[in-house]
Amino acid sequence: KPYPYKMEGKVISGFGRGSKELGIPTANLPVDSDITPWISSIPSGVYFGYASLSLPESHPQKPSGAAHSFTTFPMVMSIGYNPFYKNTVRSAEVHVLHKFSADFYDAHMRLLILGFIREEKDYKSLEALIEDIEFDCEVARNSLKREAWRPEAVKGEDGNGNGAEW
Ligand code: ADP
Ligand code: MG
Repeated sequence: KPYPYKMEGKVISGFGRGSKELGIPTANLPVDSDITPWISSIPSGVYFGYASLSLPESHPQKPSGAAHSFTTFPMVMSIGYNPFYKNTVRSAEVHVLHKFSADFYDAHMRLLILGFIREEKDYKSLEALIEDIEFDCEVARNSLKREAWRPEAVKGEDGNGNGAEW
């Protein structure tokens, strides 16, 4: 079965396109097709699911006394081709549906990708882009509210405790 897709890694710097300035910061993850072979074949587009974050010790929102703990948040993400790399390398960018008081570069992030929202699109205006992304966030929030997609329901999905930590 195709879903859920899983990927994980450390949050890296993106392309500095100013997503944060638009109010839609996207945490970029390195894409390694050896670890996640499915990444080269799934359609480019917008997906939703959960992001579990292990915040760095220095982060103001790090739960105290929980060195290895992951905190789970709903997320929307885009998987696409970065034209800069001549269309051979995928990029994965995650907008976490949570308000953070500080950046979390270097944080370890685990993703559970649960569904597809829409294909990649070209935009004539910034306003149109932002409008669509806000709608994507809505779709993700509403989808994840459904019983089958509550974190408790999705945990341990593979039956051997994998995912239990997020
Ligand atoms: P970059 O080009 O480096 O990816 P962005 O403008 O896309 O810069 O901002 C992404 C960074 O913002 C993330 O790496 C993360 O540290 C921080 N950030 C803060 N809040 C969020 C959030 N809700 N979702 C994703 N990233 C966030
Ligand atoms: Mg980004």
